[in-house]
Amino acid sequence: MSPGTDTTADVIPGPAAGGRASSAPLLGRDAEPTLFELSQPGRRSWQLRTTGVPEVPLDDLVPADHRRTTPAPLAEVSERDLVAHFTRLSHRQFSVDLGAYPLGSCTMKYNPKICDAVAGLPGLADVHPGAPVSTIQGWLELLVELEEALCEVTGMAAATLQPAAGAAGELTGLLLMRAWHEAQGRQRTKVIIPDSAHGTNPASVTLGGYTTVTVPSDDRGCVDLAALRAVLDDDVAGIMLTNPNTLGLFEEDIEAIAAAVHEVGGLLYYDGANLNAILGVVRPGDMGFDIVHLNLHKTFATPHGGGGPGAGPVAVSARLTPFLPGPRAVRLPGPDGPAYGWATPDRSIGRIHSWHGNALVLARALTYLLVHGSDGLRQVAQLAVLNANWLRHRLSATYDVPYDRPCMHECVLSATSLKKATGVRALDVAKRLLESGFHAPTVYFPLIVDEALMLEPTETESLQTLEALASALEEIAADAGTEGGHDRAAGAPHATPVRRVDEARAARQLVPTFDARR
Ligand SMILES: *Cc1c(COP(=O)(O)O)cnc(C)c1O
Repeated sequence: MSPGTDTTADVIPGPAAGGRASSAPLLGRDAEPTLFELSQPGRRSWQLRTTGVPEVPLDDLVPADHRRTTPAPLAEVSERDLVAHFTRLSHRQFSVDLGAYPLGSCTMKYNPKICDAVAGLPGLADVHPGAPVSTIQGWLELLVELEEALCEVTGMAAATLQPAAGAAGELTGLLLMRAWHEAQGRQRTKVIIPDSAHGTNPASVTLGGYTTVTVPSDDRGCVDLAALRAVLDDDVAGIMLTNPNTLGLFEEDIEAIAAAVHEVGGLLYYDGANLNAILGVVRPGDMGFDIVHLNLHKTFATPHGGGGPGAGPVAVSARLTPFLPGPRAVRLPGPDGPAYGWATPDRSIGRIHSWHGNALVLARALTYLLVHGSDGLRQVAQLAVLNANWLRHRLSATYDVPYDRPCMHECVLSATSLKKATGVRALDVAKRLLESGFHAPTVYFPLIVDEALMLEPTETESLQTLEALASALEEIAADAGTEGGHDRAAGAPHATPVRRVDEARAARQLVPTFDARR
């Protein structure tokens, strides 16, 4: 549809108002117009009354040659229409608040509302990050306590809270690795990554100026220790590991791996994006890791997806502490003066984010940690693992289980046999699941599993929800083998506002802009 076609309509068009010809066959219901299409000259969402306070001349605020000469081409809509627009859009979404979202490796769990309530407190939300230290003692205490709690959970000595996401944490960790090797007077070039790793790992290695060396997984789905030993030499800066790995399996040889890497002077990096499985049970520090990043937006209850916000703190062992980004919130010694302040470590790699990171995500995370306490956190891990194993066991009668042994917080199934028998692929299964009121699992990842379906139920889903999810997946497989089953699956989803999209075209012919003047 071309923008601006309906600007003469009196009634704001939309699904309820009707009367709008949809020219986009992709959409099951009428397309929601953009705000620019809803725009009517002169409409406003609000107006301020004049107060009698003398106005500052515009020239005193912004010099004339810095001001635009024509109004910005913004949408003009009433508050009523604005709210209706976003409410209609919200009805087309799937979210963690709406139902189970078993998107493996993403930890899309329900986030307790108390975390949002705390993050919305004016005393936290309305504070400028550059405010004088004496006026933000509470915020500093929060940051110090969060750092201490994350170090307790990971078994590390200190942490930076600055990185804005997991991938930013990975880059921070690799820069710390580099700084540490340089401080030992050496340059190393290689970082080892298992073939099951998350895609951000090799990308971060490249961004950090290193070369990736891939080690294969063995037939149990873990790092092949012999293959690892074969690539270890004194040019290896370190290894990046996810444990449990992306197959949802715990690396049982982790102590041997740690010893072998340390022996050549390398460091161990822990990709702790998904900490659900090990919270309060085991700690990366105790396994021999030197650097850990955590995704607070996955494990510690910040709603995520759609691009943010996130936080990817990096915790390190004592020998790496002097290199951490700064400034960090710290307790100040001495009885006089403020109790907390900012400090930058001696040999800091510098800033990794403006100000102090995504601070309100940090506030949510500390709330989550305090509300649960250590027993509650351990229960989170136990339930996450129990739920994933329940699903794996139940669905092993219907789908292939390539690595059939107890998993951690997620399980990886495969649609290989289903595809052979019916032509229905993992992607089709995922699309059909949307029709049953569940989000799709992760598909075709990890790359080493054919027709992968990766399910992470998380600890927040009840037995009844798991039953319903498993039944839906069983019905999809059963239907695939019946008359017309293949076509029903290939055309799915049929009942969602947006039907099957051409994902290759969406990635190659990206149209990220909207020209309001057309
Ligand atoms: C999500 C994830 C990442 C990347 O985290 P972002 O916050 O999306 O940058 C890295 N590693 C693993 C294992 C993940 O699941």
